[in-house]
Amino acid sequence: MAFRALDMIVAKREGSEHSAEDLKSLVDGYVAGEVPDYQMSAWLMAVCWRGMTPRETADLTLAMAASGDQLDLSDLPHTVDKHSTGGVGDKTTLVLAPLLASMGATVAKMSGRGLGHTGGTVDKLESIPGFVVDLSEERFRSQARSVGVVVTGQSKDLAPADGLIYALRDASGTVESLPLIASSIMSKKLAGGARSIVLDVKLGSGAFMRTERDARRLAEAMTSIGTHAGRDVSAVLSRMAEPLGLAVGNAIEVNEAIDCLRGGGPPDLRELCVVLAAQVLARTGLPAGRERVEAALDDGSAYERFERWVAAQGGDARTLGSLELAPDQYPVRAPRSGRLARLDARAIGEAAGLLGGGRARKGDAVDHGVGVLLHAKVGDEVAAGEPVATLYHRGGRGLEAARARVAGAIGVAETAAPEPLIVATGLGLEP
Ligand code: URA
Repeated sequence: MAFRALDMIVAKREGSEHSAEDLKSLVDGYVAGEVPDYQMSAWLMAVCWRGMTPRETADLTLAMAASGDQLDLSDLPHTVDKHSTGGVGDKTTLVLAPLLASMGATVAKMSGRGLGHTGGTVDKLESIPGFVVDLSEERFRSQARSVGVVVTGQSKDLAPADGLIYALRDASGTVESLPLIASSIMSKKLAGGARSIVLDVKLGSGAFMRTERDARRLAEAMTSIGTHAGRDVSAVLSRMAEPLGLAVGNAIEVNEAIDCLRGGGPPDLRELCVVLAAQVLARTGLPAGRERVEAALDDGSAYERFERWVAAQGGDARTLGSLELAPDQYPVRAPRSGRLARLDARAIGEAAGLLGGGRARKGDAVDHGVGVLLHAKVGDEVAAGEPVATLYHRGGRGLEAARARVAGAIGVAETAAPEPLIVATGLGLEP
């Protein structure tokens, strides 16, 4: 019988399970313009209420991944990719990509721009003068081979079904569905072609998933899709209640990533990078282990690879480590003495956006020099009136609102201890 979108809407409304063929017909029909928006949104809403089985979720993902170009990276050695579900101050890709390449892996990945309170790797890279993020496939491949690391902007030709469906979800109140989120993320990762993928699933106030239970379920859904698709996919759960590291913005985050690549930087950033690198490397068959990863950060090999990467993409290596920040500074001070008990990641991400470092809408311009530099983290002792954060702003643009947001993000108490950054590792891996 010919496929009918209406039958699928009714079937899902009644809680039935779809076949792989029907899911493929629905996705292909939507991309071709044969299934109208109103039917697709009705089906998406039925999925929100009824859910999907792991098998259906995997088949939906495969159909979305196959809706456009799919990169074949099988001619490159040990291809790895990492995905973060989005956080504040999350500059791990900038560290992890050259770190993994310096240890023998190939990192040929696509990254997105920032939206809302979270930043994007592509915006951060563009704060390096001359750095080019729109690469042809030929240049992408040749750099992956010669340097072992290349990052380009998300191509519209990869998993185009996701772009179309995501826009519809955004407009129809159907973003918050675990199988839809998992299939959206994984369709792009599968089309990106890497053999081994590590997922950094964030939880907490600054993250998409607020609770550990939801983050764990998302991690399990995504690793199960990966297994179904024949890839090595594993996940780490990490906390995102306070920002990662001390820097939030664009250039300011690149400067901090460079500190980490030179063996320094904030301990939480280093720890997350080491955990993610050790986990994904263990899947490639390359020599792995924490000690080796730490050695690559400490002996200069990761940083040397970063310099080669930046130069290959046209960036001016002379500017590295001291990228120019916005000229004006404003300190936000501790309201009283005690220990820092709260440093709300979402509010601090929003503050960086208000200063001009993020975008409220796709296509908005970004000021690479503005941002927030923290001087303390949760659990640290602070004295009344001492700066907890410095806002880098340009002539007061957005300052009043950003200042209020950061002041509201800070809580000081008699006692406070930081919670462990890494909540779980190895999710999705067989024991
Ligand atoms: N990120 C994505 O790429 N897709 C979602 O559905 C949610 C977050």
